[in-house]
Amino acid sequence: MFENLSERLSGVFDKLTKQGALSEADVATALREVRVALLEADVSLPVARDFVKSVQDKAAGQAVTKSVTPGQQVVKIVHDELVQVLAGDDADAANLKIDQIPAPILMVGLQGSGKTTTTAKLAKRLKDREGKRVLMASLDTRRPAAMEQLAVLGTQIGVDVLPIVPGQDAVAIARRAKQQASLGGYDVYMLDTAGRLSIDDELMSEVEAVRDATTPRETLLVVDGLTGQDAVHTAENFDGRIGISGVVLTRMDGDGRGGAALSMRAVTGKPIKFVGLGEKMDALEEFHADRIAGRILG
Ligand code: GDP
Repeated sequence: MFENLSERLSGVFDKLTKQGALSEADVATALREVRVALLEADVSLPVARDFVKSVQDKAAGQAVTKSVTPGQQVVKIVHDELVQVLAGDDADAANLKIDQIPAPILMVGLQGSGKTTTTAKLAKRLKDREGKRVLMASLDTRRPAAMEQLAVLGTQIGVDVLPIVPGQDAVAIARRAKQQASLGGYDVYMLDTAGRLSIDDELMSEVEAVRDATTPRETLLVVDGLTGQDAVHTAENFDGRIGISGVVLTRMDGDGRGGAALSMRAVTGKPIKFVGLGEKMDALEEFHADRIAGRILG
């Protein structure tokens, strides 16, 4: 997930920890290299800059150069700072708010981001791990293939899918899903909204109307982690218009440089809740900042 960044940073920190005594200039040099590594991983410039500044301040505050193991102390500060940038103060981001029955979960995102796949992965997870009864509905009225795809995935994972009624618009389908979920005793209903290749006003208006008709407990934005800073811009856009409660980063099994994960929280203020790690239905992992920071630092 973060192989390149991880390799770069371990190069920097191996040097530091082997060196024994450190001068302030040594720390400054190392942090410059950290900054370059972050930028190469496609972390946004202000985030990389703030990150390094914060590590620098803490290193100075803790007088690391005078400590017995200065290199390790710097690594520890970087680790804590990574956790902070990845998660802010949100320790328990992956917990979904399912505090009413039935609880609506709105899935939004651009076409091809992995929205339908992620909807099914999450439904399976809620069913298998939490014993929830889940109903899924596709609102993509313009793409019959997308509706069909959700139906196929539903059969595959054993989760019910709202039957397709030709001619209904997205809001009508959402209302029907809500009604069916109430009548049928479901705990959760998931609405897989239509995506577009780019953000447009029509898409946003439709999602807004669905949101207003259902008052979702969670609005999860699915974005392609391979798209780096574009993923962060997409999140800013959706959050500004719709209001999102969290992000699912897909394709983190690919050779993405990780910048999307590292900038997302700092730029948008929204937590990453899950990451997609493949096409299979169980290739979804909770996002734990501590674990990810550990992975990045090797
Ligand atoms: P949608 O248009 O946003 O609904 O996107 P889909 O759910 O149809 O996904 C588009 C393609 O991406 C499909 O081939 C998925 O199998 C694939 N995909 C989705 N999530 C992941 C992921 O986390 N990793 C990988 N490698 N492929 C994924």
